[in-house]
Parts: sequence; C-alpha cells; structure tokens
Amino acid sequence: MTQTHWTLAARAAKMNPSVIREILKVTERPGIISFAGGLPSPQTFPVAEFEAACAKVLKDDPAGALQYAASEGYGPLRELVAENLGKQSAAAGVPWKVDPAQVLITTGSQQGLDLVAKILIDADSKVLVESPTYLGAVMAFMPMEPNVVSVASDDEGLDIADLRDKAKDARFLYVLPNFQNPTGRSMSEARRAALSAEAARSGLPLMEDNPYGDLWFDQAPPAPLTARNPEGGIYLGSFSKVLAPGLRMGFVVAPKAVHPKLLQAKQAADLHSPGFNQRMIFEVMQNGFLDRHVPTIRSLYKAQRDAMLQALAHHFPSTANPDDTLTWNTPAGGMFLWARLPKGMNAVDLLPRAVDKGVAFVPGAPFYAGNADARAMRLSFVTPSVEEIRRGVAALAEAIHAQRS
Ligand code: PMP
Repeated sequence: MTQTHWTLAARAAKMNPSVIREILKVTERPGIISFAGGLPSPQTFPVAEFEAACAKVLKDDPAGALQYAASEGYGPLRELVAENLGKQSAAAGVPWKVDPAQVLITTGSQQGLDLVAKILIDADSKVLVESPTYLGAVMAFMPMEPNVVSVASDDEGLDIADLRDKAKDARFLYVLPNFQNPTGRSMSEARRAALSAEAARSGLPLMEDNPYGDLWFDQAPPAPLTARNPEGGIYLGSFSKVLAPGLRMGFVVAPKAVHPKLLQAKQAADLHSPGFNQRMIFEVMQNGFLDRHVPTIRSLYKAQRDAMLQALAHHFPSTANPDDTLTWNTPAGGMFLWARLPKGMNAVDLLPRAVDKGVAFVPGAPFYAGNADARAMRLSFVTPSVEEIRRGVAALAEAIHAQRS
C-alpha cells in the first residue's frame, strides 16, 4: 500500500494555535485563580429565560427552528438588531438608520472577522490594527496572508498622525473603540471624531468591532464610528457578552458595497448560522429583556473591577517613579484591565512563577502585531469572585516581589 501524501496548503502554515489558548491550558489547573481567560461570568447567563425560550421555539415553530434557513439570518432577529443599534446611536447623539437588509447574522462575531478577511484581504494587502489589538482578529486575518501593520495607540485610542502616515492603500483599519480587548481602553469622543474625519478624508474603510460596548459602568460610550459614516464601515456585534457565548451568535452590519459578497462568503462557510439558536436569542431579547438584564451585568462587573483596583492599590502603592512598581489603567467598562510590570521585568517570565503562587494572567506581548511591550499584562476581572480577586492580587504581588528581590 502506498503511503498517502498529505500536502498542506501554504496558507495552513499561517495558522498557529492561539498563544493565549495555549497559556489558558496551563492556567486551568484546579485551584488557580485565573485573571487570564476572557470568559463572561456564568452568573450572568440567563438560564431560566433560555429554558423558556427553548420550549417556546420548539412548540411554536419547530420546522422553522430545525430546518435549513436563509444565509442572511432570521428576519425578526435582524430587525431587532437594526432597531437596537439605531436606538443606541440616536441616544449617543448620532442617528444611524440601520436597514435590516444590511444585517448578517454570524456564528459569533469571530466568524464575522473571518468572513470580512476573506472578502477584503489578498496576499500582501495592508491591514491596519491598533497596538495592541485583539489576537483572535489577527488570527482570522493571517490565512489571507496580509501585511498587518500596527498603528500607535495610547490611552485615548489610535494615534491619528501615525494612522495618516500608514493609511495609504490599506484595505481597512480594524478598530475596537469600546473597552478594548486586551487593554480595556476606550477611544475618547475627540479621537473618534478625528478618526472618522481622517477615514473620510483618505477613504480608509473601517472595521469596527464592538463586543463590549454594552458593558459600560458609569456612562454609555460615544456613538459607533460606523454610525458617523455607514457607507465607510463594517460593524461587528456579538451576543456573547450580554447573553451567552456558547450559542455562538453575532452579527455584521455591512454597507451595500460589500454586503452581497459577505453573504456569499457566509453561504460558502456554513450556509447559515443555527436557526434554533437565532430564535432562542430572539425570544429572549424581544420585549426589552436586555434593558433589564445588561444593567445587572454592568453592576456585577463594576464591583469586580473595583475590587481589583482596590487590591492593586493596596499591594502596589504608587511610587515617585512609575517604572519602580506595577501600574495599571482604570477601564470604564468591559472585562479587562491592562497592567505594566516594573522596569526590567517580563510578563512571560513572571507567568510560571505566578501560577506557582496560584494566580494566572495573560502576558501582553502576543497582542502586539508590531513591537511588543514585554512588561504588559492583561488581567480579566469578571470570572473570579471578589474574594478570589483579593486573594489573586495578593498572590500576584507575592510573585512580583519574589522575582524582583
Ligand atoms: N472580538 C473581540 C474583541 C473579542 O474579544 C471576541 C471574544 N473574545 C470576539 C470578537 C469574538 O466573540 P464572539 O465570536 O463570541 O462573538
């Protein structure tokens, strides 16, 4: 018998295991307090509502829920998505009339990233990302063999001058204006206005990813970038952080110039997202459930963020020179906080020592497409309890002090 010859496509070499998922495997040992995962708190999953919705969907429309269906997605859900986005944008001062025909329901917003990559990226196409950025997006782009270029970013968001230097011939800018993964940062209104103006001036398409925008603590974020120029942006949304990630439900709002191709890519990828899950989400969401549910997530996550900030301040008092201690930001929403180790330390080296002390985090380096900050680390505050957050930060402090002395 001749041995079978498997020849992998060149693009397969561009696919690598997510560094973060590999790190998570190490940190999932029992007893470890994990600030590493990006997992929503299971306390927030509306189990009873899903149970009722499941029964109702199967009773009212079993054939619709269980049969093959349209690639665009379930009509009533697309209408609801369009209506909600329109309402939110109007409340933020920028009316956006979303046509349900522009909404494509996807299998998680992660699929949206993959589909957009397929229709917009050729080999060597320039794609702009923030620095740092969501690793999962870069992973979705990589098989299309882009030239990923990082745009400098600070606490207010993208550096517009750097963007101007790099925008020429870019296929798009991938941007996370709200409570970004990994930094928890949000883009200021001034920066959004400047970015919008620059994109309009240079004709640069925007790909706006907004899975965390609803999870604000004190104040709703400014209007989406796409609302400011709907023909100039693709907007990605997700039900993962406000309902449950396990159903894998998200959506893309795309302008007429790209929507038909996106739909064809969707058809080729999986025909359509699960009709059953779409109806479940619709049943749970209709009648304003999110207006009652999301505030409970916000207050839970805010209390957990506060517990982390307090514990950090307790263990790492500020010093005259910020390079001498751990420093961190104060995210105004979302799930993550971004911290920076004292000068001379490296988050990758610290991780195994922290795990020995019983706490895990994700080093910041993998989130950079360009030059990485080896001192940076991402701390998620949503999965552990307040008590675990206190113990975890104490363990982290022990690991940092032990490595410094
Ligand atoms: N974008 C960002 C920025 C994310 O953090 C995530 C989830 N970690 C996703 C997209 C994908 O989310 P989902 O596929 O669950 O909608």
